Amino acid sequence: MRPLKATINHQALLSNLAHIKKIANQSKIMSVLKANAYGHNLLDVAKTLMASDGFAVLSVNEAIQLRENKFKQMILLLEGFFSKDEVNIASELRINVTVHNQRQIELINQAKPVIPINIHLKINTGMNRLGFMPNEINYLLESLGSNPYIADIILMTHFATADEKEGIEKQLSIFNLISNNYNYPASVANSAAIIRYPESRLDWVRPGIMLYGLSPFENKIAKDLGLIPAMSLTSEIIAIQNIKAGNSVGYGLTFKANKDMRIGIVACGYADGYPRHAKNGTPVAIDGHLSSLVGRVSMDMLYVDLTEIQSANIGSKVELWGEKISVDTVAQFSGTVGYELICAISASQRVPLRNINA
Ligand SMILES: *Cc1c(COP(=O)(O)O)cnc(C)c1O
Repeated sequence: MRPLKATINHQALLSNLAHIKKIANQSKIMSVLKANAYGHNLLDVAKTLMASDGFAVLSVNEAIQLRENKFKQMILLLEGFFSKDEVNIASELRINVTVHNQRQIELINQAKPVIPINIHLKINTGMNRLGFMPNEINYLLESLGSNPYIADIILMTHFATADEKEGIEKQLSIFNLISNNYNYPASVANSAAIIRYPESRLDWVRPGIMLYGLSPFENKIAKDLGLIPAMSLTSEIIAIQNIKAGNSVGYGLTFKANKDMRIGIVACGYADGYPRHAKNGTPVAIDGHLSSLVGRVSMDMLYVDLTEIQSANIGSKVELWGEKISVDTVAQFSGTVGYELICAISASQRVPLRNINA
């Protein structure tokens, strides 16, 4: 079998959840499990993060899976629902839905769910992705508050720049101005806000990336934040080429050897989810020794420098990211964020996932 695999350390997930509990103290924790738990496997992660007060997913199918597996926590559909049928399923299974447009309110009224449905009413405070405009909320709540098909209401918003210089101040003040007029619970913070802005830890917090031990910030890696990465991506050297100074490796001429070199061919490529844009010099670990990528990542393989690692041979273990190599660093070398890398591995459907300490 091809030696590439992703290993999920469940002890790390638990430790990250404990870390969030500590900093979020009073807030209830809604663990965000969208995108197959950021590529870590929905059900396995939910089981380990059982102590969460709620789970957030994208699709009604993911929510059904959680209910079928006896998870009793609050479950939220982050984009809400798309049909009357989904309203009724959500009502029967006690799944909270995000309501962010008028069409969804019409669908609820048409579906007439027997059990009133719980909603997260989404306010667009400046991200301009989902949600009602702030000046619509008072009017909306007047009718939603007495709508027989609607039970609990939670107010929510999402920040565009919690991880950036601009921060959340403007969006949070718009949210608070509305929310303070009511007694509805509030949910606003993603990972970056949880870490940076204590004032955003309201009734609920919604951590995603930090649960998996990645940094939400471009200039910080997980270790700086007391988080432990849960996923390691590992493979092996499957071939070795000795090249002369002046020769290059792989497609294109993106790397030219300036000395005689020993090159390891690794079973992992962009079709597996490894970023094709990873630059020359992106770190890898070979049998625990630090080395780096040379040449352009191929569909199924990539190339590493073994010149200084004499002991390396066919079969040597390669860590693409994990304990030694931060996925955040690989992301930096690839012009992207760790979020994209961990999701891509599972989305490729080529990389078997193993659990440890589950
Ligand atoms: C994905 C998502 C989160 C979690 O964001 P992280 O940056 O991964 O912590 C929270 N809220 C909403 C609405 C989301 O879509």
